[in-house]
Amino acid sequence: MIRDLHEKLLNGDVTAVELTNRAFDVIDQKDEELHAFLSFTKEQAMRKAADVDVKIKNGEKIDLLAGIPCAVKDNICMTGTVTTAASKMLEDYIAPYDATVATRIKENDAVIVGKTNLDEFACGSTTENSAYGPTKNPVDPTRVPGGTSGGSAAAVVSDEVVWALGTDTGGSIRQPASFCGAVGLKPTYGRVSRYGVIAMGSSLDQVGAITKTVEDAAIVLSRIAGHDPMDATSATSGEKPYEDYCIGDIKGAKIGIPKEYLGDGLDDQVRDVFMQSVEKFKLLGAEIVDISLPHTEYALATYYIIMPSELSSNLARYDGIRFGGAEGVDPKTVLEQYMEVRGKGFGPEVKRRIMLGTYTLSAGYYDAYYKKAQKVRALLRKDFENAFTKVNYVFTPTAPEVAFKLGAKCDDPLKMYLSDIYTVTANLVGVPGLSIPVGTVSCDGVQLPVGGQLMGKWFDEEGILNAGYTYEINT
Ligand code: GLN
Repeated sequence: MIRDLHEKLLNGDVTAVELTNRAFDVIDQKDEELHAFLSFTKEQAMRKAADVDVKIKNGEKIDLLAGIPCAVKDNICMTGTVTTAASKMLEDYIAPYDATVATRIKENDAVIVGKTNLDEFACGSTTENSAYGPTKNPVDPTRVPGGTSGGSAAAVVSDEVVWALGTDTGGSIRQPASFCGAVGLKPTYGRVSRYGVIAMGSSLDQVGAITKTVEDAAIVLSRIAGHDPMDATSATSGEKPYEDYCIGDIKGAKIGIPKEYLGDGLDDQVRDVFMQSVEKFKLLGAEIVDISLPHTEYALATYYIIMPSELSSNLARYDGIRFGGAEGVDPKTVLEQYMEVRGKGFGPEVKRRIMLGTYTLSAGYYDAYYKKAQKVRALLRKDFENAFTKVNYVFTPTAPEVAFKLGAKCDDPLKMYLSDIYTVTANLVGVPGLSIPVGTVSCDGVQLPVGGQLMGKWFDEEGILNAGYTYEINT
């Protein structure tokens, strides 16, 4: 996709301004129903597109991303634009600086058309927790697009943009990609800078791309990866042309299928589609190995202790003083200020997690919950270290089910949390995860996408990208 459009731009078959106008036409037609976007940056987008057209006319070398319409999830800061994280708390917050990922794509002349919807502060699995209303799944608008990067996935799949940035703390890139039929890459923890990304769980958060093809995800990663002095957890290497590693051959690669990911809770039709995709990998020359990741059953509980602990600390900064949220509040004391601002600014799911996280970090419970969860996290990491002595990649369903109906799980947080069962582990242990479309299941006459998740060794994005690419071009 990106490469084809780039060629067309260079050949003069289309201009960047035309591509951008087209993107806004599709948005005009579709976004009232889908609600993939929270805000638009049309003026900057049109200016950028015109600049790219001038560069092309002058024969200047342009990047693959140049002139191509894209979108950015609204928990990523962009100078001068409202960045809400889909919360009422940040309704009027105008970011005073660019996140490093935003700087990098801007430097490559990407045309950013707007900011996409998410669950409030990236807490959720359906985008229904947005304070500004849910996004709908473009494949079937009666269903959720997944979350929390549901706006980014919907924008890509509905052709509003060519690609979009998302963030992933427990599956928020991969699961919506799976639900909408897109490709979603969560890089290794540390591969991409978190500077300027509104923090959810700081030891889990990563930025990545949602795209239509695996090569596009590789192209975007090449532009956003690499060390950033502004993020102390960013790795020191990583600026590579990831797309060059998509060679389309995985003969001899060992792909591990962990039995723990195929047990209770997995929808039968999703299991069938997934098993067919395993067969396809076999036909492509991969060796399929049955493996075990024995601590898998503790992953979700571990995540739902560590993530709220970190989230409750990160959200402590929203007190109505530095980031807005105090409009119309007239407190007499500091405590009143906190209670009023936070009481009206945060939605129910965010409050639930703040309470959970405050509890698990409090004196007397810290050892029993947070510290224990960190110990289990180390065991989960060992599971992966052991697995990677036997196999190159681990392959699982991305989610236990296909996109469900809007509203289906809103009243049952536990059921909602179970949608993350196959994705949270990659964040807990830090490995990269790539969700690729592997087929569809028929539901009420609609073909709903199923995603398969390839997990690789730490910093082996090129490996999973090549495996995903090989699958994609051969199916
Ligand atoms: N669905 C998960 C949660 O609710 C993941 C969120 C995310 O990755 N931001 O926490």
